[in-house]
Amino acid sequence: MINFAVGPVPSSENVRAIGSLDTPYFRTPEFSHTMLENERLLCNLAHAPEGSRAIFPTCSGTGAMEAAIMGLLDPINDKAIVVDGGSFGHRFRSMLELHGIDNVPIELVPGTPLTEADLEAINVGDCTAFLVNLGETSQGVLYDASLIGRFCREHDLFLIVDGISSFLADPFDMESMGADVLITDAQKALACPPGVAPMVLSPDAVKRANSLTQPCMYLNLYDMLKNQERGQTPFTPAVTTLLQIHERLAALDAAGGAKAEVARCADVANDFRNRIFSAGLPFQMRLASPSNAVTYIESPYVSAKALFALLKDEYGIWLCPNGGEKGDTSFRVGHIGNHPLSDNVLLVAALVDACGRLEPKHDKEANK
Ligand SMILES: *Cc1c(COP(=O)(O)O)cnc(C)c1O
Repeated sequence: MINFAVGPVPSSENVRAIGSLDTPYFRTPEFSHTMLENERLLCNLAHAPEGSRAIFPTCSGTGAMEAAIMGLLDPINDKAIVVDGGSFGHRFRSMLELHGIDNVPIELVPGTPLTEADLEAINVGDCTAFLVNLGETSQGVLYDASLIGRFCREHDLFLIVDGISSFLADPFDMESMGADVLITDAQKALACPPGVAPMVLSPDAVKRANSLTQPCMYLNLYDMLKNQERGQTPFTPAVTTLLQIHERLAALDAAGGAKAEVARCADVANDFRNRIFSAGLPFQMRLASPSNAVTYIESPYVSAKALFALLKDEYGIWLCPNGGEKGDTSFRVGHIGNHPLSDNVLLVAALVDACGRLEPKHDKEANK
């Protein structure tokens, strides 16, 4: 099976090997040492400013998004600008609503990048924070980190970045962007099984977490930061996933760090896009500010649902389907995780073969 979803994604052999072992007990000096190493390695990969901290909440990425909102924003004093350009941006916005944080949404036409004009149009007024999914995975779009960073510096906004699909796939430098929080996820470019959503907090974010009263016991940032000082977690963590994350972080570090991994991922994405161009398939790739993590593909003539099922059942290949009304006319292909370039060769050959077998939709229907 070759999995081109945007998470979970294929893992390295060493990461998979750890998954086959019994889970060790974790209140030990050995596990604490591994966790302190995880913190150091993650802060390095993110190029976090001096004095930053990393924590490893046991939850999916959505849990870390919510932990950030509950633990770092205050319903009385904060008001957040939030980029809503797809389903993940919309999720941030819904969470702000749920937790009573006043917000100013920037609604983008799905699939379009954030522009300077979008930012200039905002009435910043008494806003204190800015939330963005740097890579809007649902649309395959990467937003401009330096544009956002400049804007937040200029207006003194506390910047929370969901880098869940873009971290290690696209260039990211926490310090130069001026981000206060980076949210990641085990099963995206970290290429581990799900269960942990690592976060990096700048010194300002740590200060906020320690000074706000958090109405939450399980996803409490203050508790997590306190425990992580000695390499521990408040409750039983996803121990095996954390050991796999350690293997992966150490391997990335040894192989040249974030820069090398981003370059590798860019190679995989560009190779795939070039092959799709050359194959002359009836697809349209969306390439205005694309993330290296994923390619969004319009398929007006061939049913994306039929294509997904055919590739899964007869070629052993998983595409990344889209939900909602675009579910049958578009799909995505992920490039993160342990994909050698040869996976692209197999995928494009399968797409060519499958498109030849599937009945094209009537032009009339396709033009609807
Ligand atoms: C995958 C993803 C998430 C979180 O998804 P979970 O299912 O909660 O792990 C959040 N934001 C972005 C941008 C993502 O790509």
